[in-house]
Amino acid sequence: MPKVIRGMKDILPDEVSRWQKIESASRDVFRLFGYRQIRTPALEETALFVKSIGGETDIVQKEMFSFRDRGERDVSLRPEGTAPIVRAYLEASLHKTSPFQKLYYLGAMFRAERPQAGRMRQFHQIGAEAIGSPDPAIDAEIIALEARILDSCGIKDYILRINNLGCKDDKKRLSRTLKDALTDKKAMLCDDCKRRLAINPLRVIDCKKDNCRDALRGTLKNIKFLCEGCIGHFDSVKALLDILRIKYLLDPYIVRGLDYYTRTVFEVSHSRLARGQDAVGAGGRYDNLISDMGGPELGACGFALGIERMIMAMGEGASDFGGGEAYITAYIAAVGEAAHKRGFGILNDLRSAGIACDMDYEAKSLKAQMRSADKSKARFAIIIGDEELASGEAVVRNMATKEQRRVKLEDIVSSIGTPCHD
Ligand code: ATP
Ligand code: MG
Repeated sequence: MPKVIRGMKDILPDEVSRWQKIESASRDVFRLFGYRQIRTPALEETALFVKSIGGETDIVQKEMFSFRDRGERDVSLRPEGTAPIVRAYLEASLHKTSPFQKLYYLGAMFRAERPQAGRMRQFHQIGAEAIGSPDPAIDAEIIALEARILDSCGIKDYILRINNLGCKDDKKRLSRTLKDALTDKKAMLCDDCKRRLAINPLRVIDCKKDNCRDALRGTLKNIKFLCEGCIGHFDSVKALLDILRIKYLLDPYIVRGLDYYTRTVFEVSHSRLARGQDAVGAGGRYDNLISDMGGPELGACGFALGIERMIMAMGEGASDFGGGEAYITAYIAAVGEAAHKRGFGILNDLRSAGIACDMDYEAKSLKAQMRSADKSKARFAIIIGDEELASGEAVVRNMATKEQRRVKLEDIVSSIGTPCHD
């Protein structure tokens, strides 16, 4: 029997209603904050990600599903949403109509990582990008937006960590300082980090191996690499978060696994998730990405939440949030071929009137069909057999009160009345 691909997962009907609730709660929050949805393809040119995320990052080095297509083009399944959105923004010249755009997305991302709890090869993100403003209020808004979505999904006790990476020059200074500090400890580093130390030292901070973490300990404390502009920007972000009463921890080890970040970076973690993959969401400012991709000099900031990890963070609370099935209003229990045909017509009339309904397609007995009606949580069962066809009246049973009445076949739609607004 064919099997689902390792690290990928089917989301079965029982789980889907939870996903839909998370998605719709997020959409409501995005609308509240003035963000509009954007949808980009799952497949992009590989070069887009190499250039934006960075050639020395884990994502580009090890995690992309990349292949050469039939037209000899190098393409990759998107591992993240920001680079494709910036590409779309520039390609559609959105900056020419209005440089400042607040965008959001929901969709599948792909990374060929070692599958573990909370780490999949196809996972799903909810994210936002505010493109076209250097204002620290945007950093605070993006963080507030992420927090509001978690709140609206009933996710509590998450921890927000923030850090200031500074601008391009500051990051270079930080890289140099880190390189100097780690040169003595080079023997402790993993092979990847030895290479990273030479090419892109900041990536060492992102390594999850214990030895590399030990080597790093203490190296980032009290080092001065930030320029005045970046210090001022971050002070404003913190002051604005205080106004919003959003609690945060300052963590110099938050650098994020993508090269394009500048100034504010942040991660939201939850203790319900396993160490090493406890980030529910993350993001930051990326002030050089748009110009690096050939566009104008524009500041931008964004975040992405992982839906699978949001569900894990919900824990027990998840059962109140979604679960259950979509209920129908009426179930038609028809016995015999002629009654089934007539019932099928009534089913269609009910649906045309906006009334959610269903019937049996397995030639079940009346008793079994009534059990199905019960299971479907329908408010009414409409019973039609040969006798009802002859008299032109169906039996309509109120499933809660068990009260039964006879209703003319042509009056069933009006008698069932209120449309279902599911
Ligand atoms: P991690 O440190 O866990 O590898 P990351 O820094 O690679 O995360 P981002 O690229 O910032 O993650 O993605 C944002 C969010 O997407 C993460 O916080 C997480 O919730 C989710 N995410 C990332 N990779 C995966 C994955 N392989 N499986 C499931 N969710 C993921
Ligand atoms: Mg990762």
